[in-house]
Amino acid sequence: MTDCIFCKIIAGDIPSSKVYEDDKIYAFKDIHPKAKVHLLVVPRKHIETLAHAKADDAELLSHMILSLPKIAREQGLESGFRTVLNTGAGGGQEVFHMHFHILGGGAMPFTV
Ligand code: 5GP
Repeated sequence: MTDCIFCKIIAGDIPSSKVYEDDKIYAFKDIHPKAKVHLLVVPRKHIETLAHAKADDAELLSHMILSLPKIAREQGLESGFRTVLNTGAGGGQEVFHMHFHILGGGAMPFTV
C-alpha cells in the first residue's frame, strides 16, 4: 500500500533499524521506544489490523507468532519479553499495518 509507513519501511524507502527479516516478516526497532528493547514485527503483506486478517493469513500469523521468541532472544531478551498487538483505533493502534510490539529489558511500562 503506497501511503503506508510500514510498507515503505519494508521496501527500504524509509530507513529503519532492522533486526530480522525473512520472506514473510520484517522486524525493526521502534522509533519511540517504551522499554529498553522495543521492537516491531510486521508482515510483509499489508494487513490493516488483526481484525482484517483472513483464514488465508493463518500460516503467516502463525509464522509471526512463532518467530517472536527467536527475534527477542537475538536482541538479548533471554529472560522473557512482553508482546503487544493493538487492534484498531479503540485498541490504541496508530499505524494501520498490523504489527506485534516486543518489549523487554527492564521494568515494563505498564501491567495488564
Ligand atoms: P501502534 O500504536 O500502532 O500499535 O504502534 C505504532 C508504533 O510505531 C509506535 O510505537 C511508534 O513509535 C512506531 N512508529 C511510528 N512510526 C515509525 C517509524 O517511522 N519508524 C519506526 N521505527 N517506528 C515507528
